[in-house]
This record gives sequence, C-alpha cells and structure tokens, in this order.
Amino acid sequence: MVKANIHKKLERIEEALRNLAEHEIECRLCPRECGINREKKEKGFCNTGSNASISHAILHFGEEPVLSGYYDCLKDKLKDSKHISGSGTIFFSGCNLKCSFCQNYQLSWLNQGKPASHEELALNMLHLQKKGALNINAVSPTHIILPLLKSLKIAYSNGLELPLVYNSNGYEKAEVIKNLEGIVDIYLPDFKYHSPELAEKLSGAADYFQHASLAIKEMFRQQTTLLLDDQEIAQKGLIVRHLILPCQITDSFAILEWIAQNLSKSVCLSLMSQYQPSFKAPPEIQRQISFEEYNQVKAKAEELGFETMFIQSESFAPHEHLTPDFNRKDPFLWE
Ligand code: SF4
Repeated sequence: MVKANIHKKLERIEEALRNLAEHEIECRLCPRECGINREKKEKGFCNTGSNASISHAILHFGEEPVLSGYYDCLKDKLKDSKHISGSGTIFFSGCNLKCSFCQNYQLSWLNQGKPASHEELALNMLHLQKKGALNINAVSPTHIILPLLKSLKIAYSNGLELPLVYNSNGYEKAEVIKNLEGIVDIYLPDFKYHSPELAEKLSGAADYFQHASLAIKEMFRQQTTLLLDDQEIAQKGLIVRHLILPCQITDSFAILEWIAQNLSKSVCLSLMSQYQPSFKAPPEIQRQISFEEYNQVKAKAEELGFETMFIQSESFAPHEHLTPDFNRKDPFLWE
C-alpha cells in the first residue's frame, strides 16, 4: 500500500473512532444493542470488555485462494519455507451472534483467548506481516471494532501495509459499517439466514436478515468490485460467503435470490460445504450436508447467473484443515 493511502487510512480511523466513541460507554455496536458500559468492564451478549482478546494469530491457508494464496501450488515450497504466504488471520474471543452449531465455539461461546492491549494486537499484525501474510484477516471483528481500530492505528503508523479483511458473521448494523469506509479493504461476510424463524432457532437472532441485508448492501456500496493483484491475490472488494446447512436449501435459495435481485450477479460468492455439527447443534442439523444439497445450491447460483463463485465441494469428508481445535498451537494443522 502506498504511503498516501496509509495516511488516508489513518485519517479515516481517527474519524471512525470519534464517530463510534459513544459505544465505549453505551455499547450498541451491533443489533443486540446491549447498552452496557464497556469501559467499566460491563459485559454484554458478546462477553467482551474494552480490549480485544486473542486466541490465535496465524498464517491460515484455508480461506478462499484469493485471500490465503494458492496452497496446493505452494505445498512443496512450504516444506522449505513455511511462511511464503497465507492469510494473516487473527481469531478473537467472544461473538455477537453465537450460533448454536458454531465450529469456533471454543472462542465464540467459551471465550478462550487472552486479553490483549492495543499495542499487543498491533504487534501481532506486524508480526504476521513479517511472516509473509497476504492480508490481516480479522475473524469475528464486530464486537471488537473499537480496539481493532485503535490497534490498526498503531500498526499502520509502524509500517503495516497489508489489506484489512473484515471476516464477519453478517449480524451488523449498516450505520456502523458506514464508518469503516476507507479502512476495510475486503469485506468477507457470511450471509447465513433469510428466514427469521431459522435465525431465531439457530442463533437467537430473528432480525438477522433484516440487519445483515442492509449491512451487506453497505459493504457492496463501499467495495463493489473484487480487485486482484497480478498474483491473483485480493486487494479490495467483497466476497459474500454462505454456509450451506443440512435440510435448509430453500433458505439458501432465498439468500441467493436476494443477492441477485438487490446487489448484483457480479458479486463474488463463496458457497461453503464445510458444515460439521458442533457444540449445541440441534438434532435436525446433526449431519454434514449432502452432495445433492450442495449441488442444488450451486445449480441455483448458476441459474441466477452469478459470474464469480468459489466452490468447496472437495471438502465433504471431514476436513482437518477446515475444522479447528483452538486448544492446539495450530488449530488447523497447517504446520
Ligand atoms: S458489541 Fe457486544 S456489547 Fe455491544 S451491542 Fe453487540 S453484543 Fe452487545
């Protein structure tokens, strides 16, 4: 990133911090609108105070190839030099959505991780850059936007040059996302549910679609086009993920139809097949999705005319690289 862009980014961070400061003492950053004082260490639904807690900060090769690099091509090289690329992924503790089936439940529900000062979080970013990360990928950033912005300010002032990936569950407020214009380079929301009943049942958030649709519209306004560099690595843009759930393909169809009608068929989609029942998944979703379910959703996306899609069909078998255990040093066993 050129110096002028860093300067602009720092100005935008200052502005966002000013605009969002009220949430430190009465947090309404996300649709849960807890209204608690995080500076006084009160905790809301996300169970997070005024600092972020970090579980892991690692090079991750399991994201979309435009974010993680092309692992298969690099596999041999990685034996010699493990840190050629990968997404510089930071997993935070806590979550503002807490899906009952969350594969990251050790973080979202059990809050595993260590509180980090803003300086420590910035150092993690700089360390990932030094290891060759292609970007800084903040996983579940919604509830820690303020400490994230404060840390980015330190990191960008001290030489961070990587694009920022905002890797979210989609349960966001559009007016908060508006403040991230000029700061977030790549939005990576998982657009989970269309049906309020399903969202309530699995995530206790009947208003999920109402908020996520507006937030993703705002993300699309800011970063309409996926921009790749000459190595086919994303520098800017929006990738809308959708985790396909067992027995729920009509809901998947409704999500795809909404994107086609309200955003664009040029939106880059990532259709995820990796669902594994975890934690408190209710009985009706206690299995992986089938090939048929995945292929029906993929066919629907093709029929609707989506131009760019990431397909994950090879990962139907339980996939160690996509099913993390955050008790391990490397949760995805890449090392
Ligand atoms: S960010 Fe956390 S405390 Fe703030 S409104 Fe959302 S869940 Fe509540």
